[in-house]
Amino acid sequence: MKSVPIYIDGDFRQSATQEWLEVTNPASNEVIAALPCATEQEMSEAVEGAAMAFQNWKDVAVPERARLMLCYQHLLKEHHDELATLLSQETGKIFADAKGDVWRGIEVVEQAANIASNTMGEWVENVASEIDTYSIIQPLGVCCGITPFNFPAMIPLWMFPIAIACGNTFVLKPSEQVPLTAIRLAELFEQAGAPKGVLQIVHGGKKQVDYLLAHSSIRTVSFVGSVPVAQYIYQKSTQYFKRVQALAGAKNHMVVMPDANKEQVVNNLVGASVGAAGQRCMAISVAVFVGDSNEWIGDVKGAMSAIKPGHWDDDNAGFGPLISQQAKSRVLGLIQQGKDQGAVCELDGSQCVVEGYPDGNWVGPTLFSGVKTSMTIYQQEIFGPVLLCIEVDSLEDALALVNANPYGNGTSIFTSSGAAARKYQHEIQVGQVGINVPIPVPLPFFSFTGWKGSFYGDLHAYGKQAVRFYTETKTVTARWFEEDIAGAPNLTIQLK
Ligand code: NAD
Repeated sequence: MKSVPIYIDGDFRQSATQEWLEVTNPASNEVIAALPCATEQEMSEAVEGAAMAFQNWKDVAVPERARLMLCYQHLLKEHHDELATLLSQETGKIFADAKGDVWRGIEVVEQAANIASNTMGEWVENVASEIDTYSIIQPLGVCCGITPFNFPAMIPLWMFPIAIACGNTFVLKPSEQVPLTAIRLAELFEQAGAPKGVLQIVHGGKKQVDYLLAHSSIRTVSFVGSVPVAQYIYQKSTQYFKRVQALAGAKNHMVVMPDANKEQVVNNLVGASVGAAGQRCMAISVAVFVGDSNEWIGDVKGAMSAIKPGHWDDDNAGFGPLISQQAKSRVLGLIQQGKDQGAVCELDGSQCVVEGYPDGNWVGPTLFSGVKTSMTIYQQEIFGPVLLCIEVDSLEDALALVNANPYGNGTSIFTSSGAAARKYQHEIQVGQVGINVPIPVPLPFFSFTGWKGSFYGDLHAYGKQAVRFYTETKTVTARWFEEDIAGAPNLTIQLK
């Protein structure tokens, strides 16, 4: 069976470890590769190699770093279908979704090619007589990234291209469930001309992550994953005085106003909730129907029941399986709790079967109405194709409900009223807001700005905030003497 290599100092090599994990195809649970958990020696080589590579890479001219990204973007586009196929095999994502996953990563690489404009400093002439102050943006050193299973191309590409374009080197620990795409991304990066050691890849779980968090050469930690792990990463990394951005789980609400366009609401709600089997941190998992819009719950049910999960290369499949058997039993457990706690299960996907794939981790579209905020299905992130419907009387009630939720990744409002949309945008305590847009993920000239329990840290992923995250600002105050002016001891600080 294929074993996944680690990538250290430009070498895709077999690990010497005794600890192995299995990578499975979620549509069949067949084992498709063996994954090594890197040894301590290999972890050390990865970080030390990145630290060595930094000594040269930090001084490589900015246009040259930008050109590496241009070349990489070109190669990623050329291999778009191939990457999407690999990604589909390890995640089960349908091909169109897998292509979207790669594409959203390519867009970040495009932004990384724009690094010169994003790392311009500032200059003030004559802060005092003949004295100027200016700032220089410099890289930090070795950065690391720990990524989740659900976007195997996009999320690593949120991180290492920007960090490296800024002049840093990077150690990536991809999700142990989907390591194959990450390795292919690294092969293409090397083919684009990345010098050895600039990107390193290690595999494993908590032990390998803990190694990175504690290593004195690691300057920043970028994490995307579940809430408890994000909280752990933030606490542990700050304990070691690292700069951290930890993006976590979510519960995203779509508020449906009675004046919205019904067709738009139904189509967008269904796609945003069950698309990608609900395994998106920006998936809509709660629909908040305001006033008479609750009459559309039946239409949502009708549209949802027409969507069938299936194998990634089946053109008729609406979405794929859940990532693992554990994920499936977790979601089924939550569906059962929803029923037990009194929510009305309008559509139940727990018994879903897909012809030809009896062992896949399938869960069909599931819809609950009559949901209360005290129920477990509301309080936990389900991360499956499950939509909860809550009914409220007014926009004020909807605002209060969404604002009381501990998470703040994304939300949307569907309405034809500019005033309602404006009020929602202004008063909602959520970091990414869609107005008649169900999943408002910003393109990478902006940043991915989750709030509250969905984000731990200060500077967000990609966009200008990521450039600040991966760099340090140095401020220089300078005076140049004309040759014939004699100096005298200056005993006071005078800025006049
Ligand atoms: P996860 O937290 O289980 O794993 C994420 C990474 O952390 C993996 O690389 C894993 O190996 C590592 N890890 C797991 N347990 C660890 C531990 N105890 N200590 C240290 N490292 C550990 O998440 P997942 O299941 O892969 O991804 C799904 C979650 O990610 C969902 O909650 C989803 O909402 C979230 N997510 C958030 C965003 C966002 O932008 N906010 C984006 C994508 C996914």
